[in-house]
Amino acid sequence: MTNTGAKTPLRTCVACGTKKPKSKLLRFVLEQGICMDERQIRHGRGAYVCMDEKCRETGIEKKKLQRSLHKVTRRNRKTG
Ligand SMILES: [Zn+2]
Repeated sequence: MTNTGAKTPLRTCVACGTKKPKSKLLRFVLEQGICMDERQIRHGRGAYVCMDEKCRETGIEKKKLQRSLHKVTRRNRKTG
């Protein structure tokens, strides 16, 4: 029994909200600013956008990546 696809981790594009396999998205991490993580190997929280230029622009210019990453950081704090 081979089930390809079932285990593919899906990530949501912060620009358009579409869920796609990780490999089809660009990963960004927060490192003194937003850095593209081309090989998806950096540690820490990541945010994803489509490889589409529009999504990339939206993600970066409208600070969606930033917001998404900051939100995650904040969420880690225990609020009770
Ligand atoms: Zn997108």
